Amino acid sequence: MLSRRRFLAATSTGVLQSATSFAWPVGKRLAISLSFDDARLSQIDRGLTLMETLDVKATFYLSLLSMQKRVDGWKEIARKGHDIGNHSTAHACTGNYRFTRALEDFDLDEMARDLDNANREIEASVGVKPVSFAYPCGQKFVGRGKAARSYIPLVAERFESGRGYLDEMPNYPQVCDLAQLMGTGIDGADWPTVRGLLDKGAKDGSWIVFVGHDIGKAAHQTTDVETLKRLVDYAKDPANGIWVDTVGRIGKYVKKIRS
Ligand SMILES: [Zn+2]
Repeated sequence: MLSRRRFLAATSTGVLQSATSFAWPVGKRLAISLSFDDARLSQIDRGLTLMETLDVKATFYLSLLSMQKRVDGWKEIARKGHDIGNHSTAHACTGNYRFTRALEDFDLDEMARDLDNANREIEASVGVKPVSFAYPCGQKFVGRGKAARSYIPLVAERFESGRGYLDEMPNYPQVCDLAQLMGTGIDGADWPTVRGLLDKGAKDGSWIVFVGHDIGKAAHQTTDVETLKRLVDYAKDPANGIWVDTVGRIGKYVKKIRS
């Protein structure tokens, strides 16, 4: 459906919302993307083989320091057709995290240089220019108090999409801002929990962008291999009407249908 007509769409929560008409490809009622942050080595060591076995493509957001530990592995992931995204140079989050330089100490010019540097380095090392960004810690500001500014416009100028983290809701494709996509945490989750998210998302026609870090046995910042297997098996069953693909490809579809 390519119409720009506006209508009132009812969500599963009963909220009526003005939206542009939108439809997923025929037979699909939910879209999901699997994304992994921080260029963690388990994504190469376990994730690559797992994704090959499951015949699914994921989106890997590379932060520079980690990427440089295993450049050949990331080249291989790109060569296999997975999406390579930008997760910044400094991985700056609020100073409350205490492990990086604080976003409170950044300004917009410095953040612009950080983003551009990461894109240059990733392209030079891996051979792919990222068109998608993941906000470190899901945070989208620089500065402090009255001087704080959003850096979403910098991301919108440079990338086709920007993804958050630990957001409460999935993306409602009629209205979502591609520069600040909601990211749904999957680390530590078991299959029944994920299945519940899929069921709810299917009722709303959502796009769920799952966000994980390490890949292994369910734990803090580790996505469980068994959960991933169950998730992809379920998503690939045509009876369930799920489109599973990269953030890049689903984002392009959303943009095209809404244009
Ligand atoms: Zn991160």
